[in-house]
Amino acid sequence: MNLSERMVQGLRIVIDRSQCVGFGDCVKEAPEGFKLDEETVAVFVAPESVERERLLRACDACPVDAITVWDSEGRQLVPPLT
Ligand code: SF4
Repeated sequence: MNLSERMVQGLRIVIDRSQCVGFGDCVKEAPEGFKLDEETVAVFVAPESVERERLLRACDACPVDAITVWDSEGRQLVPPLT
């Protein structure tokens, strides 16, 4: 596991960098929030500068569910639980 975590607008966001395959969908959706590092793995930039809805969309865009988001009550928002 290679986890990177941020608290943003009451959301807890975790990138599991060992799962990331570097397609960059999260970066496309929110380039202020995420970028690919020199290993083509997603890292945080300034997720606090992204509006909440778009930030959630960017996290949800990950095709391999490498990004998980919980709300302030610990409910998982991304990936959505069915
Ligand atoms: S969308 Fe997922 S797999 Fe793609 S760069 Fe972002 S975290 Fe990595």
